Amino acid sequence: MFIYLPEIKSRSGETVDYQFNQELADIFDEFSDGGNLKLMVSVSHSGEEILIGGSMEAGVAAVCSRCLEPFTQTVRTDFMEAFTIVKSSPVEDDPEQLAEEAANMLTVSGDILYLDEYIRQLIVLTQEYSPLCKPDCKGICSGCGTDLNQSLCRCLDQDSDQIDVRLLKLKELKTGN
Ligand SMILES: [Zn+2]
Ligand SMILES: [Zn+2]
Repeated sequence: MFIYLPEIKSRSGETVDYQFNQELADIFDEFSDGGNLKLMVSVSHSGEEILIGGSMEAGVAAVCSRCLEPFTQTVRTDFMEAFTIVKSSPVEDDPEQLAEEAANMLTVSGDILYLDEYIRQLIVLTQEYSPLCKPDCKGICSGCGTDLNQSLCRCLDQDSDQIDVRLLKLKELKTGN
């Protein structure tokens, strides 16, 4: 994902809209199990800055923090950023390096603003730390590991059964003596 800047600069002060709709896996190794990425970006040029603003929605592979089932977490956020235009050095024409400069230093040099790394960081920052497959996920039983979304477990029954069994054995021992 990149923005070609000469067009933006020639229309200084105007906002130009872009849309990207891609598979996450095609862009990032990190999200190889991910779904779709939808990106709407408005770009404008002002003085020494390239301004971008828009919204992002991505389906990211996640594991539910309660039931431990894998699911696709929808990550959504709005963003707004100003990239300072800096002089390009002849060494820095590697797209990956330019993408990292854009993301980490919020600078842009040359004719192209590479957004991949910026968007990757945005996804990581927006991902929930303890995602849930659904808001009311019941999780798994700490006693038997049953997924309580799928079925009820009988831990309570089993506990009382076990006590009964032990009591019975005690009784057997006593009667044996
Ligand atoms: Zn869950
Ligand atoms: Zn249980």
